Amino acid sequence: AKDAGRNAIRFFSPEMQAAIDSRSEMETTMRNGLLHNEFQLFYQPQIDIDGEIIGAEALLRWFPRDQESVLPIQFIPVAEEVGLIIPLGLWVMETACAQLKAWENDPRTRHLKIAVNVSARQLRQLEFVKQVQDALEFSGANPSLLKLELTESVLLEDVDDIVERMQQIKLFGVTFSLDDFGTGFSSLSYLKRLPLDQVKIDQSFVRDIHTDPNDAAIVRAIIAMSHSLGLKVIAEGVETKSQLNFLKNYGCAHFQGYLFGKPMPIEEFEKLLKRI
Ligand code: C2E
Ligand code: CA
Ligand code: CA
Ligand code: CA
Repeated sequence: AKDAGRNAIRFFSPEMQAAIDSRSEMETTMRNGLLHNEFQLFYQPQIDIDGEIIGAEALLRWFPRDQESVLPIQFIPVAEEVGLIIPLGLWVMETACAQLKAWENDPRTRHLKIAVNVSARQLRQLEFVKQVQDALEFSGANPSLLKLELTESVLLEDVDDIVERMQQIKLFGVTFSLDDFGTGFSSLSYLKRLPLDQVKIDQSFVRDIHTDPNDAAIVRAIIAMSHSLGLKVIAEGVETKSQLNFLKNYGCAHFQGYLFGKPMPIEEFEKLLKRI
């Protein structure tokens, strides 16, 4: 059995080995990047039914020195796998809270919320509640302006623990949104147990809302169900006026997408606020 185990190591194909090498290489460059301030938050506007900007989703960007920038879909999964998402996610939360605090003195910005993505791995840590509390206390940010976006992957294990952790965080005044809704495999009964404030309709349903009657039906059902559960609804990936009108007709009142603005550096986001 020992021999078999040793031989098994050689079963890695050159492609698999290359993938492993590039992953650990990315881990090292990411670790250094965190030390050298190579990460930035971009902000994408979130809009209400009157077209007003009510906040932004904070989206992580990585600009490695001497290298082309790397997309979140490339580095976030690696960060999750190797555990770097913990310090990285903490940095995101602290940076977002500092931004909320900085907006507090200006009447044009002090009502704005920031939505932060939280990976299941972060939420599964025992210390997560304390980390959120510390980020809020250290920055002095108003907790009710911080929104945490989760995905259905949090439901894969320990639902009771997750629910309890969420409830503790809600006591601070922080709210929760369920991201990518409709794409996961969770049952509605589980969903009902999560103390959510908002559901975010995944962009894949919004994209074909006009051309695919099934997507239109799903969007309608999500909105109706969420509202009857007392949840707010936001649609992501809104790119056209006609998608917006469709969503409005179905009763959706919050929107995010290229129609209103792409994720952008903070300076640009603040300029956008002044223009409106
Ligand atoms: P997500 O949370 O679902 O974020 C929405 C993604 O859709 C963003 O991609 C955004 O740029 C893109 N998007 C927004 N509006 C439109 C639109 O109208 N059309 C199209 N085609 N796309 C749109 P991005 O920034 O590349 O982020 C990808 C994913 O990476 C995010 O998906 C999220 O899962 C993850 N991510 C980003 N930042 C963080 C972070 O700070 N922490 C964690 N854990 N994950 C993050
Ligand atoms: Ca998100
Ligand atoms: Ca999403
Ligand atoms: Ca997504």
